Amino acid sequence: MNTYLKDQALRERARRVIPGGMYGHQSAARLPEGFPQFFTRGEGSHVWDADGNEYIDFMCAYGPIVLGHRHAAVEQAAAEQRARGDCFSAPTDRIVELAELLTDLTPHAGWTLFAKNGTDATVYALAVARAHTGRRVVLRAGGAYHGWAPVWQAEGRPGMTAEDTAHQFSYVYNDFESVRAAAEQAGDDLAAILVSAFKHDVGCDQELPDPGFAKGVRELCDATGAVLILDDVRAGFRLHLGGSWATLGIEPDISAYSKAIANGYALAAVAGSDRLRDAAASIFATGSFWFAGVAMAASIATLTTLQTSDALPHMERVGALLRDGLCEQARSHGVGISYTGPVQMPYLIFEGDEPARFKIRRAKLFAGEAAKRGVYLHPSHNWFLCAAHSEDDIVRALEVTDVAFAKVRASFGGS
Ligand code: PMP
Repeated sequence: MNTYLKDQALRERARRVIPGGMYGHQSAARLPEGFPQFFTRGEGSHVWDADGNEYIDFMCAYGPIVLGHRHAAVEQAAAEQRARGDCFSAPTDRIVELAELLTDLTPHAGWTLFAKNGTDATVYALAVARAHTGRRVVLRAGGAYHGWAPVWQAEGRPGMTAEDTAHQFSYVYNDFESVRAAAEQAGDDLAAILVSAFKHDVGCDQELPDPGFAKGVRELCDATGAVLILDDVRAGFRLHLGGSWATLGIEPDISAYSKAIANGYALAAVAGSDRLRDAAASIFATGSFWFAGVAMAASIATLTTLQTSDALPHMERVGALLRDGLCEQARSHGVGISYTGPVQMPYLIFEGDEPARFKIRRAKLFAGEAAKRGVYLHPSHNWFLCAAHSEDDIVRALEVTDVAFAKVRASFGGS
């Protein structure tokens, strides 16, 4: 079983100089015992913490690692660009190559713009939609995450004002009637409908988009002139290279990408249709590091590798093995679970837990016992498979989760 002495010492030092010890979703503060706060190395599907403990990584940096840590082709492309320089007073030539590649990959796109984080991309997309329509209101699903920016925060959070979230109405994901009602509230001020690739909110079962819902929001945008924004930050390039709604045959007007776009290098993109081109050109948006070359070189290598390898079907295959193994183990231990979402990005909820109310004692015990034995899963966020996960990783992970299920059964009984 793992020990965490160096991790404890680092947490102590961090507490003094980093408010709250650590930030947001990458903080282990609220994760159970057995989770390290710091990683020092990654290779393929494995990561190592500050104490040298090794884990099979099923969080993949919350999504960015899609090919595996330190993927050879990505690292080589990044190193070659780094040897020439990264950050200049104008973009590198890589930006044109990457914009061409992304615009080709994304069926609805006639152009692509770049930034750094997913939040940049969703805020950017909303600004383009408002500039294009000259209207203000955005409809968004209640409970969906679109980034940390004030415009996306829940009202009443510390440091935010009520005005930050003005001009927004909420709807229920997959409930088209609720979208129609919200659009009526917006009237002729409706600028955009924002949709997640699928419902992947923390605390509830994941839901794939219902085809009728997707068609409905598309038609509503066409009828009202509003812009359909797809927040593909979390799912993009893991499910489909042409955007996560490509399988539904529904094209958004603008997509926000980040996470898996450059296998861990910081990059985000907004890809939009030609009718939004003038609006995109008119708005002011920039950042000191947005145009740096290394991340763009890494992105070209990542997207090219995803295009030319079996990475996507492989993730689906190993994801299905993990799902089948876990569901069978839960059954054999008599522990009730729901396991939802695409197998490449699954979410596990234990019957008896109430994740929507942050009551996740079973999930915490399960994930903590797994972490102590070298399997890094999350108790309350969806997991991520990557192309480097092998069948052997899944077999080894399932040996550990068998023990973790037994612990849950012993502590909480069956369900
Ligand atoms: N949209 C979605 C769907 C996300 O999952 C996230 C990040 N979890 C964001 C936007 C924001 O991305 P970032 O954290 O890179 O700003």
